[in-house]
Amino acid sequence: MTNKLQVEAIRKGTVIDHIPAGQGVKILDRLHLLDSDVSITVGFNLPSKAQGRKDIIKVTDLKFTEQEANQLALFAQGATINVIDEYSVVDKFNMTVPETLRGAFPCPNSNCITHNEPVSSYFYLREQNDDIRLKCHYCEKSFSKDIVSEL
Ligand SMILES: [Zn+2]
Repeated sequence: MTNKLQVEAIRKGTVIDHIPAGQGVKILDRLHLLDSDVSITVGFNLPSKAQGRKDIIKVTDLKFTEQEANQLALFAQGATINVIDEYSVVDKFNMTVPETLRGAFPCPNSNCITHNEPVSSYFYLREQNDDIRLKCHYCEKSFSKDIVSEL
């Protein structure tokens, strides 16, 4: 037990564990966690038996929406989300890349109809080597997750 607590325990909130090392900063940025007034405890480059190194983020008094959790899966393949209440894990799920993603990012193709019509972006996701490719439902162009995540 003492080995496992590399970062201070929280009473209530969400712990994102097993984040691939180096991705923790992106997640903080992407979810705008630093702009909110929630308390955040982070551990970067922690030793991990399974991964070598990992990042971990603990957010007090926050539960992610489904859309946030889906975005997270792009940056943190293999990460786990632990929902904490009274210092115990009450719910736990693995982040998996969703098959489709609606409205999370604008289409990087500036000629795409989604920029001119009142429709949400809609992507089909496919894992490819270390990358995730997102194919736009409307313009049918395919993008790396790295391009989409810069937007
Ligand atoms: Zn498009």
